[in-house]
Amino acid sequence: MKKYDVIIIGAGPAGIAAAKTFDKSGISFCIIDKNKFPRQKLCGGGLTNKSINMLKKLNLDINRIQNKPCKNVIIENKSTKKELELDNSIVMIDRIDFDNAILKQITGDIFLEENIININDNTLSTNKDTYEFKYIIFADGINGYSRKFIQNRKFGFCVEYESDKLTDKVILSFNAINGGYGWIFPKENHTTIGLGNFDTNKCDYINLICEFAKKNNFEIDKTQIKGYHIPLYSRDIYEKSVINNKLLVGDAASLVDPISGEGIYYAMASGMYAAQSIIQVLKDNSSLKDIYFEKTQGLSNSLDKRLKASKLLYSKMGNALIKIGLNNDKILSQLKRVFG
Ligand SMILES: Cc1cc2nc3c(=O)[nH]c(=O)nc-3n(C[C@H](O)[C@H](O)[C@H](O)COP(=O)(O)OP(=O)(O)OC[C@H]3O[C@@H](n4cnc5c(N)ncnc54)[C@H](O)[C@@H]3O)c2cc1C
Repeated sequence: MKKYDVIIIGAGPAGIAAAKTFDKSGISFCIIDKNKFPRQKLCGGGLTNKSINMLKKLNLDINRIQNKPCKNVIIENKSTKKELELDNSIVMIDRIDFDNAILKQITGDIFLEENIININDNTLSTNKDTYEFKYIIFADGINGYSRKFIQNRKFGFCVEYESDKLTDKVILSFNAINGGYGWIFPKENHTTIGLGNFDTNKCDYINLICEFAKKNNFEIDKTQIKGYHIPLYSRDIYEKSVINNKLLVGDAASLVDPISGEGIYYAMASGMYAAQSIIQVLKDNSSLKDIYFEKTQGLSNSLDKRLKASKLLYSKMGNALIKIGLNNDKILSQLKRVFG
């Protein structure tokens, strides 16, 4: 049996951020992921300035992978279209390369292609081994083992298509879909076209993405469109994310911006705070729940505010609000902060 202070399940941004925080802390930890890396992950690959700063804070370097900083963004709704210069670039990356590159920067035991079979209070079994632990961080996304700990989670849905055609323009279209927006994210060697619905309403995603692409002069091969659920943030779920010696972070705890669908920053931040909390608890025996919720208070307060704003933005009044917003400097600077 392998023994660790902490087991991190999932080697996405949340798990890596936790692992990087444990590096050199003296705490023994390992990461277990069911996949072989590099692995596929459906994602727009847009890193906001918050994400870039978090990577710096964690000492994770992405300079060796292709990344494309984009400063100009076109925002449109039914009747208005405006090109904005963001205060900070959105950096466009490919998630296959990104996740693989940050995983390589972890010193510590990494067990790939291992699937969790069972977890008790302090032991865990996979298809390959058994482990003893003091704490577990679940960074296993929306479909991992941790699914069973939280009932009644809500999900939106995103569809994406990768085109070989290149562009330099980032487009965010609040006209492309109800309850969300369409995006065109330029990469070095392809372009990602996507639609995100941050509501539980069903819609005809295939036709909508084809229309959105056509309007922007991209052709789509319908058979190559991919879709994936996106968790919808709620305070209720966040408050259930610490269960005794188990902590859920990132998508596993539905920590995704309800306006933009940005999840990489929230995954890294919650992973880092989870690790910092466990480091403190192992030192002074304090309450994991109290420390984690104290550390993540700013994060959850900001997501609460964004949830309120998203309910307005994606309501029937949304189009009118965006029209007003695109002509109002104060609202524009807030919108820039969501995406830049
Ligand atoms: C279409 C789409 C576009 C998006 N675009 C953006 C964007 O542009 N910018 C942005 O910031 N966010 C975006 N997001 C959100 C972002 O992708 C997620 O929020 C982010 O990946 C969450 O990171 P995570 O580490 O919590 O989970 P994940 O990245 O999902 O990683 C979870 C890991 O856990 C592993 N795992 C799962 N189950 C098990 C198990 N049983 N045992 C072991 N390992 C397991 C998986 O293999 C995986 O490696 C997008 C999401 C979607 C769906």
